[in-house]
Amino acid sequence: MFSSLGEASTDSILALMRAYREDPRAEKIDLGVGVYRDAAGTTPIMAAVKEAERHLVETQETKSYVGLSGDETFNAAMARLVLGDAVADERVSAVQTPGGSGALRLLSELAATAGDRPILWVSAPTWPNHMAVGARAGLVCRSYRYFDPETHMPDTDAMLADLSEARRGDVVLVHGCCHNPTGADLDAAQWDRLTALVVERGLVPLVDIAYLGFGEGLEADAAGLRRMAAGVPEMLVSVSCSKNFGLYRDRTGVALVISPPHQRGAVQATLETLVRTNWSMPPDHGAAVVRTILADEALVEMWHDELATMRERIVALRTGLAEAMATHTGSDHYSFLKQHRGMFSLLPASAAQVEALRKDHAIYVTGDGRANLAGLLEDRLDRIAEAFTTVGM
Ligand code: PMP
Repeated sequence: MFSSLGEASTDSILALMRAYREDPRAEKIDLGVGVYRDAAGTTPIMAAVKEAERHLVETQETKSYVGLSGDETFNAAMARLVLGDAVADERVSAVQTPGGSGALRLLSELAATAGDRPILWVSAPTWPNHMAVGARAGLVCRSYRYFDPETHMPDTDAMLADLSEARRGDVVLVHGCCHNPTGADLDAAQWDRLTALVVERGLVPLVDIAYLGFGEGLEADAAGLRRMAAGVPEMLVSVSCSKNFGLYRDRTGVALVISPPHQRGAVQATLETLVRTNWSMPPDHGAAVVRTILADEALVEMWHDELATMRERIVALRTGLAEAMATHTGSDHYSFLKQHRGMFSLLPASAAQVEALRKDHAIYVTGDGRANLAGLLEDRLDRIAEAFTTVGM
């Protein structure tokens, strides 16, 4: 059976993680993997999460299955957190998923099941798993231009030109905020232009929001997605709680579908059928934690404060690195770091420069030049800026 299997091509990010782990140099710096780190270099469990977990340990009475769509209270709270009151409840279907990845998989399968062989359009560049998951779910994938390496910001004209080739019913994957890997987000006017194109051409947006609260704040980060949700008849949304609740390994997420009210029953039933044939029942713990936090005012406040601390730390690191680069290069070429949102920025680094950073300076960024700014430590900013300058970036 297995003789036909070649060497499996793993996600390049996973290969980078392995190389970092195996590097014996004490001074090594990991800007590759997409997890938040605090000033001590660790990925802490949030205090609000610990508190909710204590409450669950004391009060939970069963580990029996929750149900195909998962925890309804969690689903409703997440729909509110992401969508606000942009769309009426009777238009929203929701199922709890194992992480944002589970939501992406399910929504891709929904598109493959319900659509007429839709193409999944993803931004160039994007998180590598977007295309991989879409393809596994049976969708043909194409990319649209997104990033302008000159301005380090989105190139909306190019994006809209490419998407004007999309056919009715095609799915357009858009990053809700904190674009991975570029850090370059759409502004309100750009969201509106994209929404107009989606409506005009009858496209279906799939908004992937994995960093809600990491850019400018919960409300600001959801604003573009909500503008779009209010203006389109159909939309898919994949939500991850991995970063903003720090629940990475507890696999917590939700898939939301916005449809006309009369189609909601069919959408919800199809989502549940897809759940049944994938993981049958979602894992409970992470969703139970999130539900517990969002139902308790004191815990919500605690969570907001912790999220703000993480966000402010990332902003401070962005400013710090931009300033260190200004000192080392004598230019403001790296001021784009301050315009970008979220953990990542795409650095203007060639493959050879990425390799030199790793070999000569023990600094790990992904092959395309993506750096996780939340992987930085304050006291290393200068060393990193020096390394970037030395390799000619
Ligand atoms: N979408 C994007 C853009 C991501 O960066 C990630 C995580 N790296 C995900 C989805 C999936 O997150 P999760 O770990 O919750 O599956």
